[in-house]
Amino acid sequence: MPRMPILSRLSVRLTIAFLLAAVLGVVLVAVLAYRSTSSEFSNFISDVEAMEQMMGGGMMGGMMGIPPFAQAARDFLDSLERTLWLAGLSGVALALFLGYLFTRQIVAPLDEVTNAAGQVARGDLKQRVTVRGSGELARLGESFNWMAATLSRDQQLRQNMVADIAHELRTPLSILQGNIEAMQDGVLEASPENLASIHQETLLLARLVEDLRTLSLADGGQLGFQPQDTDLKSLTRQVLDGFQTQLAAKNITSSVEAPDNLPEVWVDPDRTAQVLRNLLSNALHFTPERGKITVKLTDSGEGVAVSVIDNGTGIPAEDLPRVFDRFYRVDRSRSRSTGGSGLGLAIVKQLVEAQGGRVWAESAEGKGSAFSFLLPKAAG
Ligand code: ADP
Repeated sequence: MPRMPILSRLSVRLTIAFLLAAVLGVVLVAVLAYRSTSSEFSNFISDVEAMEQMMGGGMMGGMMGIPPFAQAARDFLDSLERTLWLAGLSGVALALFLGYLFTRQIVAPLDEVTNAAGQVARGDLKQRVTVRGSGELARLGESFNWMAATLSRDQQLRQNMVADIAHELRTPLSILQGNIEAMQDGVLEASPENLASIHQETLLLARLVEDLRTLSLADGGQLGFQPQDTDLKSLTRQVLDGFQTQLAAKNITSSVEAPDNLPEVWVDPDRTAQVLRNLLSNALHFTPERGKITVKLTDSGEGVAVSVIDNGTGIPAEDLPRVFDRFYRVDRSRSRSTGGSGLGLAIVKQLVEAQGGRVWAESAEGKGSAFSFLLPKAAG
């Protein structure tokens, strides 16, 4: 840090301010006290001197030339002056001492925050400051610690995210690389089936990249939303229709349950359809043949709640709180083989929360799961 000119330092300025206030106070009191006392006293002495002269000198003063009472009064004035000087100087010294103490109390926490901020800027995000008391300086310390903790958490998330992305890209890339090299060496035939499997891997990669793009745009608040009054019941039916072939292939029955007077919601229909698609695609993946998927819509008063309920594998209780995290998969290897990157629910959460809603999940292992989201009602 560059060295500060001495007069720019807060400690020096505060001490000088204390000192000036004290000096001014003392000088003012001294001048006023001395002026009024001395002028009144001088008049009084002159009167007494005149009286003493008239009476032919005082009891003893006649011999010394100065009347004794007047002398005593002069001595008193001198002593008053000395006392005032002493009081003034002591006041100034006390102001200097107290000023230094107070200033240190104010400046020390500021110095601590300044040093810690410098360390954070140099990349040491573990820096924290001691929070004392409950005043403005304590609030400054708390805000600093909160900021440092947020920076540290974000850095950790970023690092994890990069590691996860690298991990996710590595698997399909190494499969592609292996297959292509085998074909080049003539070990693997470039048959339509083998090419189709390579193509499948490129599709997985493309989906992963697209999911990552959606998440990063949502993080930066750059994902465009065009909200409008939306009838969630017909939107759900429309999205579910798109799954009919896959549902039929697994003999899964599906239904939409909703009251007749369901209010409209104020959301972007395309983004909401994407939320429904992600939840239905998961339900489809994790529900065995001849299973059942129900989409239930209810007016919760606060908004419209949508639950995608399946009677599939369910999720262990210890995994449930983390399923909306990025790249989190209950069964990593199985989920990957079915094309899951662990980003689907993270995207659901982002898209719902960006539209003023919230998401939650309930599940019983071996019995099924219910993934729900709530969206705000349209005004009026
Ligand atoms: P993925 O792309 O792997 O499906 P998601 O973020 O959509 O990632 O889901 C995260 C994990 O949550 C899945 O890997 C799976 O383990 C679990 N999961 C999600 N939906 C269901 C469901 N309906 N039934 C059982 N498990 C589910």
